[in-house]
Amino acid sequence: MMSPQVQRWLYPVPEGLYCEPGQFFIDPRTAVDRAVITHGHSDHARSGHRAVLATDETIEIMKVRYGENAAFSFQALPYGQPLSINGVTVSLIPAGHILGSAQVVLEWAGQRAIVSGDYKRQADPTCAGFELRTCDVFVTEATFALPVFRHETAAKEAARLLDSLRVMPDRTHLLGAYGLGKAQRMIRTLRDLGYDRPIYLHGAMVGLCALYERLGVELGPLLPVASVGNDRLPGEIVVAPPSALNDRWSRRLANPVTAFASGWMRVRGRARQRGVELPLVVSDHVDWGDLLQTIEEVQAQEIWVTHGRDDALVHQIAKMGRRGRALALVGYEDEDD
Ligand SMILES: [Zn+2]
Ligand SMILES: [Zn+2]
Repeated sequence: MMSPQVQRWLYPVPEGLYCEPGQFFIDPRTAVDRAVITHGHSDHARSGHRAVLATDETIEIMKVRYGENAAFSFQALPYGQPLSINGVTVSLIPAGHILGSAQVVLEWAGQRAIVSGDYKRQADPTCAGFELRTCDVFVTEATFALPVFRHETAAKEAARLLDSLRVMPDRTHLLGAYGLGKAQRMIRTLRDLGYDRPIYLHGAMVGLCALYERLGVELGPLLPVASVGNDRLPGEIVVAPPSALNDRWSRRLANPVTAFASGWMRVRGRARQRGVELPLVVSDHVDWGDLLQTIEEVQAQEIWVTHGRDDALVHQIAKMGRRGRALALVGYEDEDD
């Protein structure tokens, strides 16, 4: 591959990552004329753009979260289908992060850059698996870019939740999980393990779970917590956003077992701090091992790091004989760890 000159046509500006010949931004943090959106998490997908290009699922997620007028116009691009924007060939390929999540493949002047958004390599029954493509420049996140971060499989951690339920059948099991992606992945994984009782949802989960079902991800019987008396909840699984684990809402549950599904649960102090009795180490981001493997496999000479533990990762990339570059993009707050 020729020496990458990608930074001449793809570079960070205050709004975010900008493709100059294509005249569009990728996941910009402020409203722009033309945005390509990798996935529906709120730090990547914002409302107010004039034109949005994304997968159909991401567009549906944006409409549920921000309303039908989240953008002036939407254009859906299916995975793997190339589209020319002012001469730049753009295609979206699966990122394996959440339903609809995409890596943006950009081809211009004989060079290929891939902006991966957020991604993972682990299996996830609620979305298409990460697709590997080689490139000259690979743009990656670094949320869990430290050797300590090693995620477990969702199936193993969901089985631990079911074990706990068997041991303590009279206690409500309150599972903290991000409302877009993680919650549906955990619910679907529980179903795959044979758990077929109703799963109870915090009100904030209801709309997005309904959307997943409408888009073909079957989640089994779900009931809003508000629809039943608290006396019905001992021995049941209740899924709530992490912010609800310690707030007034959770006090309606008598003596629950509090679980939390997050990559951060690898750090014991974090679990203690949140009062989590049953930490589940499940993440929708790559862990350290999968991140390094991906950097090897995409064969890019340059790796650009958007946000997260970029110093540790850039150091490691140099040790791997490649050029690392911290873009230090602001505004990505990891709604979704
Ligand atoms: Zn995300
Ligand atoms: Zn993110």
